[in-house]
Amino acid sequence: MNLIDTHAHLDSPKIYARLDEVLANAKEAGVDRIVTIGASRGMDSNRRALEIARQYDWIRCTIGLHPHDAESADEATVELLRREFAGDAQVVGIGETGLDYFYDNAPVDKQKWAFRQFLEMSKEFNKPVIIHSRDADEDCIAMLKETGVTGGILHCFTGSRWMAEELFELDFYLSFSGIVTFKSAAELLEIARDTPLERILVETDSPYLAPIPHRGRPNEPAYLRHTAEKIAEARGMSFEEFAQATTKNASRVFDWPLT
Ligand SMILES: [Zn+2]
Ligand SMILES: [Zn+2]
Repeated sequence: MNLIDTHAHLDSPKIYARLDEVLANAKEAGVDRIVTIGASRGMDSNRRALEIARQYDWIRCTIGLHPHDAESADEATVELLRREFAGDAQVVGIGETGLDYFYDNAPVDKQKWAFRQFLEMSKEFNKPVIIHSRDADEDCIAMLKETGVTGGILHCFTGSRWMAEELFELDFYLSFSGIVTFKSAAELLEIARDTPLERILVETDSPYLAPIPHRGRPNEPAYLRHTAEKIAEARGMSFEEFAQATTKNASRVFDWPLT
């Protein structure tokens, strides 16, 4: 049974340096599709994500700018992404983008400005937005309502139950990472258990957040199975049933038909 890793940073130096091996491991582990996320280091990351997606027919990409790097967001970069990248057939989503008040690496105003640009871009191109939100639940929901964006993905969901409910109202998908395998994450696993089956996705967020039993090592798409197994078990489903449901959801949200 096959899985789709809906969020990996294949352009990240830790992975890119051994990309062939990482992709072979993924296939071997039954992860037969990957969405690689354009995010940090501005255009370098986006360019490389698109390059990878063009090279492999089982990989697609997104374009964005991580809130950690929002300081570097400017009109010219956003315009370049809009004009030359957002409409590309390999680009199946807009982001990652969002708000991170936990690390607070960039001024809040700048984060909000950049977030708004990508929310607008997702509407313009009718592609799902991929949101990163940490300790920013209320502002994140407020901005979605202001801009009228629906049907996107909240990646690496670690928010509250309130946040989850608000997102379901907006037809969003919740994507869960390896964090659900951590012993400290019992409450998060309960949210994953209770998420409507047609609204749930799984991701690695490679090279970050390796699930148990790989915790502490660089993550890679091949480890996705541990996350999916954990949630399937919490939901009282077989791994196969759960994998099939999340694969269907990923295909739907990214408009990437299963062949
Ligand atoms: Zn993120
Ligand atoms: Zn990410």
